Amino acid sequence: MAKSQSGPKLQPVRGTHDIMGDKARTFRYINQVFQDIAKRFGHEEISTPIFEFTEIFNRTLGETSDVVSKEMYTFEDRGGESLTLRPEYTAGIARAFISNGLQQSLPCKFFAFGPMFRYERPQKGRMRQFHQMDIEILGVAEPQADIEVLAIAVTLLTELNLMDDISLEINSLGDKESRDAYRDALVVYFTEHKARLSEDSLARLEKNPMRILDSKDENDRALVENAPRISDYYNVETRLFFDTVLAGLDALQIKYVINERLVRGLDYYSHTAFEFVTSKLGAQGTVLAGGRYDGLIEKMGGQSTAGIGWAAGMERLSDLISPDLVTQDTRPVSIIPVGDDCQTEALKLAYRLRKADYIIDMSYRGNMAKRMKRANKISSMAAIIIGEDELKRGTVMIKNFDDGSQTEIALDQVMTHLNHYR
Ligand code: ATP
Ligand code: MG
Repeated sequence: MAKSQSGPKLQPVRGTHDIMGDKARTFRYINQVFQDIAKRFGHEEISTPIFEFTEIFNRTLGETSDVVSKEMYTFEDRGGESLTLRPEYTAGIARAFISNGLQQSLPCKFFAFGPMFRYERPQKGRMRQFHQMDIEILGVAEPQADIEVLAIAVTLLTELNLMDDISLEINSLGDKESRDAYRDALVVYFTEHKARLSEDSLARLEKNPMRILDSKDENDRALVENAPRISDYYNVETRLFFDTVLAGLDALQIKYVINERLVRGLDYYSHTAFEFVTSKLGAQGTVLAGGRYDGLIEKMGGQSTAGIGWAAGMERLSDLISPDLVTQDTRPVSIIPVGDDCQTEALKLAYRLRKADYIIDMSYRGNMAKRMKRANKISSMAAIIIGEDELKRGTVMIKNFDDGSQTEIALDQVMTHLNHYR
């Protein structure tokens, strides 16, 4: 690892990455597809601060959630405020909704993109700084909103050409009455098997027994197999709500699998919960996840407002994307001045072409072979070679890299000539 003698450590912090080259292009591509789809569904962009008061997260995500109990980047700023780098978008967007008095303009439909921070053990698909695309609908209590956010997710994954390898798992966590009944049943069941529960799950049993269903511990998982099933505790409203969501998916020919163990890691969910999962990424197979959070805004101190949304992991999605799909940027044209006297003419031509929307790579110096090699490497469509002899004639040489031809072209005809290449 690079380390200078006396300077700072010259590597990125564990679990963080520099994004450049193909990775940067893939990110930009995915983000463009996402934004385009979000707009087609009538969503507006929002961007909230990267840090918030710690309370925004720990009061809403739930103290037993993995995120709050062990993953938050929390620090005191110089003024003594406890701040936290956002581990997810929903809480910040809910806070922004309240701070900006958007209660008056319901429904609100948002899309967002940006970095998230979680102190997790870094591994493939799991970083400490990662990026999420996020969709939220606030103020729609009807199941139509659930169907619509799922339709956005399916459209995104389909337009990224990924849907063949991804399946939608869905569950209903029910309304409060159903959930309370189920919770009681779980407490009875897990208390009977208390001796075999992991330490983490013992704590969950006290505070949020449903979270045990989400446990990654092997012994817990065996117990979970035979635990009561949530669907046996649905009341009429919950059943109707869930059936309407599923019927909507059927109407849109969106395939799904009902997974009764899917509970999601954060406290604020109710009714619909879902994950889009692939087997192509090893252990970290969830690429997009979300659900309904009707209680969140109220819990945060706002007026009771329905909400539903999801977040997709940019890193995991970009690992799945085939490079062919990422449209290459328009190919550049290389300008190669030969000799000092040609620099000004090269500068002027480059400026003129860039203003006309061409991507120009200026070759500053070096021998011709090296400069041609670079032009090739960046897949230039042509090189404009500006030499002294040609300049005296008011011309330049243009080499077409696709057919190998060289043509001498009058300086004022360069643009017309290049137009044939587009
Ligand atoms: P997991 O079960 O994998 O920990 P999660 O339930 O914590 O996921 P969410 O909070 O639902 O994840 O975040 C939504 C999406 O963000 C995930 O499906 C995943 O694609 C991505 N994601 C979450 N945490 C990370 C991380 N540490 N590194 C990279 N991507 C992540
Ligand atoms: Mg997690």
